[in-house]
Amino acid sequence: MPPTGDGIERAIRWIDGRDDFVIASHTDPDGDSLGSSLGLSLLLDQIGKRSEVVIQQPFPRRFGWLPECSRVQTLDAVSRRARASILVECSDFARAGVAGLDRIESLNIDHHSQNAMFANVNWIDPQVAATSMMIARLAEPLGAEITPSIATLLYVAVLTDTGSFHHSNTDAAALKFAADMVESGADAAGIAEEVYGNVPAARVYLLADALATLKLEEDGYVAWMVLWRRDFDRRGGGDTEGLINQAQAIAGVGVALLFKEVGRDRFRVSLRSDGSVDVAELAASHGGGGHPRAAGCQLDGSLEEVRASILAKIRAKRARGRRK
Ligand code: 5GP
Ligand code: MN
Repeated sequence: MPPTGDGIERAIRWIDGRDDFVIASHTDPDGDSLGSSLGLSLLLDQIGKRSEVVIQQPFPRRFGWLPECSRVQTLDAVSRRARASILVECSDFARAGVAGLDRIESLNIDHHSQNAMFANVNWIDPQVAATSMMIARLAEPLGAEITPSIATLLYVAVLTDTGSFHHSNTDAAALKFAADMVESGADAAGIAEEVYGNVPAARVYLLADALATLKLEEDGYVAWMVLWRRDFDRRGGGDTEGLINQAQAIAGVGVALLFKEVGRDRFRVSLRSDGSVDVAELAASHGGGGHPRAAGCQLDGSLEEVRASILAKIRAKRARGRRK
């Protein structure tokens, strides 16, 4: 059974009873974490509630066109006056990377199937394609409306979390939600141009670096690529979102892996699956998490060790899957 936690009613009551919030989302912020946090902050503005939006890392340049993105602050720790936090898209406190969130009251809003239910109130819905679809559901009960800016933010989230309506989470609800956001003022073509048609050359070079390392294993069932720190240094950028799709797109590939060197003998691993192996479970066994078809984790060891360890788990899971 996927986690369901407390439901939207408790989340609304919890928000109603408070006036001042810190909204935090995860490290390596993506379209859903940024769109959902900023969208929530704008909804709270309308009903006279204060909120600060914080992330641990510098705001990603490629999202510099998002409405109201200047309100996002980069912080290592919450301020001492913070009383209540809303964590968006976070499986646990550590995922936010901002210290002190666990010392204040908290609400956890997430759509990942792996969630530690760490907060005072946990509203988890693994059915929705993006957390922004949950944020939109808060508007009416809280007495707020979806303005064009909010619609833009929430649309970006569903656009990016569905891989521009490619992934298996692209269901009728996601498409209806996208249509609703367009009706509320999101400019679908303009947003697609910002997200996909405005790529810095450095990112394309980084893709070339990764593709140069592409290897197929397990008779073409696993495709993997690696990016080293020297690649990031040389290209002056770290944005790799969507890059792994190039490996996953290869005919016959069931699982794609992207290893990113983040320190000496330390790698961040992005995992994608066609559904034949649950990569969220695999990532969780290394302290990470995500969705059954898209997940991530960090591992210590040389590339060879890290790769061997993940491959062994994929092999075991596949064998178990076949026996079922
Ligand atoms: P990506 O590979 O694009 O960074 O992440 C794929 C999915 O896995 C996203 O939903 C992301 O939030 C989740 N994910 C990636 N890394 C981690 C991690 O270290 N911990 C958890 N809990 N989820 C992760
Ligand atoms: Mn998401």
